[in-house]
Amino acid sequence: HDGPIETDAVIVGAGPVGLFQVFELGLLEIKAHVIDSLAYPGGQCVELYPDKPIYDIPAVPVCTGQELTDNLLKQIEPFGATFHYGQEVTTVQRQDDGRFFVETSKGTRFITKTIFIAAGVGAFQPRTLKVDGLDAFLGTQLHYRVKNPADFAGKNLVIVGGGDSALDWALNFVQEGPNKAESVILVHRRDGFKAAPASVARMRTLCDAYEMQFVVGQVTGYDEKNGVLTGVKVTGADAVTRVVPLDMLLVFFGLSPKLGPIADWGLDIERKQLVVDTEKFSTNVPGIFAVGDINTYPGKKKLILSGFHECALAAFGAAPFIFPDKKIHLQYTTTSPKLHKVLGVE
Ligand code: FAD
Repeated sequence: HDGPIETDAVIVGAGPVGLFQVFELGLLEIKAHVIDSLAYPGGQCVELYPDKPIYDIPAVPVCTGQELTDNLLKQIEPFGATFHYGQEVTTVQRQDDGRFFVETSKGTRFITKTIFIAAGVGAFQPRTLKVDGLDAFLGTQLHYRVKNPADFAGKNLVIVGGGDSALDWALNFVQEGPNKAESVILVHRRDGFKAAPASVARMRTLCDAYEMQFVVGQVTGYDEKNGVLTGVKVTGADAVTRVVPLDMLLVFFGLSPKLGPIADWGLDIERKQLVVDTEKFSTNVPGIFAVGDINTYPGKKKLILSGFHECALAAFGAAPFIFPDKKIHLQYTTTSPKLHKVLGVE
């Protein structure tokens, strides 16, 4: 077993604000590890509106959510932060020496002097199919994401949902190739889709050609035999329930944010937000800061602009925890040779 990673700063969340926190810490020569439950950076900007234009980033008249994220990644490149994606921070514990023990859902562990919670509206997690008892099959026959497409090859699949993920995976598993399924049945509660029209058209063509099936209805129950899931009960608009046999059940209901474990870290919370001061953006626990949409203070506005400002002050607030004997002065990136050095622009 490897020991925990020792670091000066852990940033929880790789949304725009978590990313800019890397920059502000970097200027003060503080190295950070960034953790996000999603498999990629960008937070809401990428998860909810990658192609929508943003007009209120100072000096950037217009950019999309994805472009903002890409530019932030470029801007923070000199600081060599380490990113840990696809894992949620579950545990934060203060140790006797004043540092914090941090652990993720994948078992990655850290010992850190400071923590920056930039968790936005919470960790994005798959919306689940609410049928009593079905949870027992999670990870074996019930899946909310496809980690390894080969696991589904040659199987009888039922795919539930009406968005792009559901349609894309259905089409993927019908297609000739190494991951082709034995059969694919798409189940959606209505005969209308949020997915790209071209995917929907392709799905209908495949149904007409008997290459796959589409069933309108909701999953209301399941059948099992000797602990093995054998089928789901699908109730149609006609209120008739039919059993659809399967080997694997894939559910794509989209992602929804959950505050989750953050609520258990002993921090002051007001209406699902972390209470901070506006001098250092510190929570009630010294050494733990909160920036961006996750925090609250008088006058708080949930804007990217505000989050960026909070990062700068939080970084200065954190510096004494990392360099207790160093006096930190404000320096300009335009003129400071020291900052040029850390930015790698000498
Ligand atoms: P987020 O973007 O929410 O990122 C937080 C990240 O933390 C997420 O990726 C999440 O997965 C991760 N996370 C949470 N908990 C954990 C955990 N325990 N472990 C690991 N990871 C975790 N703002 C503007 O200023 N201008 C606009 O034009 C604008 N337009 C918008 C349009 C839409 C449709 C929406 C929904 C929002 C818009 N916003 C806009 C708001 C803006 O997107 C948010 O203010 C911004 O994303 C907040 O950034 P953040 O980094 O604080 O949080």
